[in-house]
Amino acid sequence: MSILYNIPKIVFKTRNHCFSKQNLLLMPINDVESSENPEVRSFMELIYNRNPNELEFIQAVQEVAEVVIPFLEDHREYKQAKILESICEPERVFSFRIPWIRDSGEYMINRGYRIQMNSATGPYKGGLRFHPSLNYSVLKFLAFEQVFKNSLTNMNLGAAKGGSDFDPKNKSDREIMGFCQSFITALFPMIGPEMDIPAGDIGVGPREIGFMFGQYKRLLRRFNGVITGKGSSYGGSLMRPEATGYGNVYFAKEMLDYHDETLKGKKCLISGSGNVSLYTAEKLLENDAKVVSLSDSDGTVHIPDGLTGEMLEFVKDLKFNRRGRIHEFAEKFDLEHKDEEKPWGIPCDAAFPCATQNEITGNDAEILLNNGCRLISEGANMPCTSEASRLFREKGILYGIGKAANAGGVTVSGLEMTQNAIGYTWTKEAVDKLLRENMKKIHQQCCKYGEVNGKVDYIKGANIAGFVQVARAMLAQGHV
Ligand code: NDP
Repeated sequence: MSILYNIPKIVFKTRNHCFSKQNLLLMPINDVESSENPEVRSFMELIYNRNPNELEFIQAVQEVAEVVIPFLEDHREYKQAKILESICEPERVFSFRIPWIRDSGEYMINRGYRIQMNSATGPYKGGLRFHPSLNYSVLKFLAFEQVFKNSLTNMNLGAAKGGSDFDPKNKSDREIMGFCQSFITALFPMIGPEMDIPAGDIGVGPREIGFMFGQYKRLLRRFNGVITGKGSSYGGSLMRPEATGYGNVYFAKEMLDYHDETLKGKKCLISGSGNVSLYTAEKLLENDAKVVSLSDSDGTVHIPDGLTGEMLEFVKDLKFNRRGRIHEFAEKFDLEHKDEEKPWGIPCDAAFPCATQNEITGNDAEILLNNGCRLISEGANMPCTSEASRLFREKGILYGIGKAANAGGVTVSGLEMTQNAIGYTWTKEAVDKLLRENMKKIHQQCCKYGEVNGKVDYIKGANIAGFVQVARAMLAQGHV
């Protein structure tokens, strides 16, 4: 489909030339398809004209506009108050310099950001990403998605996202600490437990969270719950590391359960081998599914007989402790490593994209569908291009979008905030129970707004359900 906005056909080859192969592998040539709906087209023209070159953001807005604009026909009050237009405009954006020094003595400068997108439903909440491909458009799409996701959790959380173009790979612990301290020193005035509560994302795990929390506490001279994803010895919630991956599988189970199916015996592809991927894998194994791939930005490991518990423990240690590469896993267990390939060519029943945005292109989607894939559950944020998304939707497969399927992470972050506020720690079992219940409720909301003739359109359901909650709050609080 061609672009109908007053811009040339968008072919994004952005940024690929700037970075090494880690970005070449998953960053597709993207193409935002224009809408069939004239109202959506004119809305998107406005978005494009206000945000030219913010291609990921435009893509994310279009997905929402396609389903929310028709919904507004029966909800004129939201239309009149221009709620959707407001949601597309961040409340506040910060960009700042992060100076730090390499072990070699070299002076370094990176760029930091925080986008405080929407506070209608609670204090700003959303992760920090450290990745060299990070830029304003990527962060703005992430912050935008967070509005709907946090609203779906029903936990009084506003939405934000932040991070830096810093690359944590091949840095010493001392360099990481120096960078994190400098980053949080710059971000310090903008965050606080009732103001803005960051968490992790790509490149920001327990090590980085610990260093940032330590520096924040040192500057504030008080101990509070400003960051979630903390270690359990200093206020972190049990189950937060597992939450996004486990929640992803709980959501997939709900989608299957709706059709009286289970995960048992299903061949599942997983992309990535980070936090979300490995806890998705763990929960899939618990449900007797067969995990046949893991990957990283160097390539994919094919596991034809299925991942075992022993293999998973090896990969966890490799990735979380030794910070190694996925080909080392292939070498250890004599498995095939497909250099610079994504997992989507391996036949499967279900796919769990858990690495990064736009990692499934239209071409990948066709291959997945032709090979028999009937379920997609997005651990990553916006892992499907708009073309891939359209193909899955048209085919009518179970397609759980990230706003719903990966909301488990922010759910347990919300629970961590509550535990910090009341000064109490819940057991792993208690947190897991609340997580499961919340993923079920999110699925129910998707059904409420997305069910058509016994099938659930999760794009429609998740986006409208997320929109309604924020829209109500915004309308009640006046034009601010
Ligand atoms: P991690 O940093 O722990 O892992 C990311 C994984 O994805 C790594 O295996 C990494 O490979 C791979 N990856 C990242 N970028 C690229 C790229 N451009 N090309 C190829 N591979 C890539 O991150 P998380 O697991 O925390 O996050 C993964 C996804 O889940 C993101 O989209 C994030 O926004 C989303 N998410 C995360 C949540 C959380 O709680 N952590 C919550 C909700 C969503 P390599 O190491 O080689 O770079």
